[in-house]
Amino acid sequence: MNNNNPKLRIEELKTIINKANYEYYTLDNPTISDYEYDMYMSELIELEGLYPELKTVDSPTNRVGGEVLDKFQKVTHKKEMKSLSDIFSYDEVISYLEGIKKITGKELYSAELKIDGLALSLIYEKGILVQASTRGDGLIGEDITNNVRTISSVPLKLKEDLDIEVRGEIYLSKKRFLKINEQREKNGEELFKNERNCAAGTIRQLDPEIVRKRGLDTFIYYIEEPEKYGLKTQTQALEYLRYLGFQVNKESASIKNSMELLDYISSIDDKRMDFDYPIDGVVLKYEEFDKYDLIGETVKYPKWAVAYKFAPLEVKTKVLSIDFQVGRTGVITPVANLTPVLISGSTVSRATLNNEDYIIEKDIRIGDSVYVRKAAEIIPEVVRVEMNDRTDDIIPFKMIDNCPICNSRLIRRLGEADYYCTNDECPSRIVNQIIHFASRDAYDITGLGDKIAEFLYQEGFVTKISDIFSLSNYAQILLTKEGFKEKKVMGLIYSIENSKTNNLDKLIFGLGIKNVGKKVARILCEKYPSMDELINAKEEDISLIPDIGEVIAKNVVEYFKNEKNLEQIEILKNKGLNMVYTSSKKDESSIFSGKTVVLTGTLLNYSRDEASKIIEDLGGKTSSSVSKKTDYVLYGENAGSKLTKAQELGIKLITEEEFNEMIKAE
Ligand code: NAD
Repeated sequence: MNNNNPKLRIEELKTIINKANYEYYTLDNPTISDYEYDMYMSELIELEGLYPELKTVDSPTNRVGGEVLDKFQKVTHKKEMKSLSDIFSYDEVISYLEGIKKITGKELYSAELKIDGLALSLIYEKGILVQASTRGDGLIGEDITNNVRTISSVPLKLKEDLDIEVRGEIYLSKKRFLKINEQREKNGEELFKNERNCAAGTIRQLDPEIVRKRGLDTFIYYIEEPEKYGLKTQTQALEYLRYLGFQVNKESASIKNSMELLDYISSIDDKRMDFDYPIDGVVLKYEEFDKYDLIGETVKYPKWAVAYKFAPLEVKTKVLSIDFQVGRTGVITPVANLTPVLISGSTVSRATLNNEDYIIEKDIRIGDSVYVRKAAEIIPEVVRVEMNDRTDDIIPFKMIDNCPICNSRLIRRLGEADYYCTNDECPSRIVNQIIHFASRDAYDITGLGDKIAEFLYQEGFVTKISDIFSLSNYAQILLTKEGFKEKKVMGLIYSIENSKTNNLDKLIFGLGIKNVGKKVARILCEKYPSMDELINAKEEDISLIPDIGEVIAKNVVEYFKNEKNLEQIEILKNKGLNMVYTSSKKDESSIFSGKTVVLTGTLLNYSRDEASKIIEDLGGKTSSSVSKKTDYVLYGENAGSKLTKAQELGIKLITEEEFNEMIKAE
């Protein structure tokens, strides 16, 4: 690759993109994925931005679509059919919105699904379909009227006798696509790569009967010169299109701020595989038509709209190196450092490799091309290796023998996949124990994050959990350290002091007993509501508690057998930490008992975590998506598509005010 020479790299990218364009638009047979194509295109746009003198008129960044074929009559579009500029991350969405707000002073958008098909123009005269054409190169398209007449969702006559041009997307449903390919397989014919290519190949058939049989479909989303029909916004245009008799996609939403928009994008991203038609992103269009001129256009696309493209669920990248993290329990986690890639809106440069067995089973090696996946809120992980890219110099992975931090010998217990550093004094273990103790779900000490914990350890102020509660003795010294202003130091000391009244389950979770998570800590406290009771609990009794097995019971008893741990608890007691548990569990008749609640939009008085905790304390559980199993949807301001779905399913909706009343009654 010519990464160090922009001129050569630009030429290289142009060659790759031109070849891909030909295969995609002319042959309907792409050889690289859309994501790879988009990444090459982004790189070219970036390089041409950095070196404008190297941008040539024939650059693919200036061109829309591909060659116009001679098979069909040519049609000159009255108004150019442009493409859309692409963005790939939430940061780009935010900066796009900020740019538009600077011009219009408002955040008003129609957000629509980006249907992965091919653009279509339809011209009606006095309400009768007279011409259908492809986008072609944007200026000149192909006349496909006869073929489009066979598509049943395209009205041949409109509800009104209008002269109008509308545009939209021709697509093929996933079901039809599978059927077509099944048949082709039986006939020994070459299979279509995806729905879009099959739709594009179909619409260019010379025999309309074949087109009819393939079952193409359309969604229409655009009216040329909408003001002529008294329309002011894109949302009105969609309604009007529906009224005229076109098929308009149901999922569009009128959006009024960036949070709502990101919510919409992520909810669509979550369920993108559930639609029966292919989509590859979300299109944002500024609502008010009278601002379009002001916002402007480039040669290739309008600026009043933009396409947020979903990254593929798995993205290919390269393993640059493998690090080993030492967790608070001493567990060693191998982590791959990757060439950064965008997945689900954020840049991923590290992914967990879980443990030695995982790496060996998948045969992951430094230097390999790998596919990385990130499901919602899950740590990115390496899914598989692209063996076709493996070269001879790539050597097999070998697990380390010693702790990368304290150099003590690692052990792997019988029946376990993980290696452990067993040195109780290992700096990495201690720092991670402190970070865990102070984390939100544990002792929730605001201001004691990763960096500060590391610093306090390095300086010798906090070398075990109980030292946190003696930090006030060092306040004066801390104030002399760089970056430690009075507000920060006093804030930290205040939140440490304040935390001492926390409920006992938070302390038990914070201690970091093996396998004792947040929920288990609560269950243990329900049975043993004071520290002393828990310390003295018998292994066989603990293991009888529902949801607590023998392994956890053993770990708990072992933890409290350890003299050092008992010493630490004694110090915490003397420092005045609360050692008793107050149950927040309500009886079976609690308002949310056994109910599933979905939260959407912004609540005024509660964060999502706070509202969820109240619901859980009242016996309910929360879920992130609306389904028939949902009992209530608690919605706040700017609630998005979850609210619409709940309405469609007839689920009971609760406002924040009603929620307040319900919990007050409890
Ligand atoms: P595009 O597909 O990125 O986006 C623009 C198009 O989106 C519009 O022209 C319109 O047809 C469509 N669209 C769908 N839903 C819409 C909606 N609700 N509102 C407005 N428009 C909507 O751009 P493009 O110029 O059609 O094609 C370029 C893309 O094609 C590339 O980004 C790439 O993904 C793919 N491509 C792939 C290869 C390959 O080799 N794999 C080659 C060339 C192009």
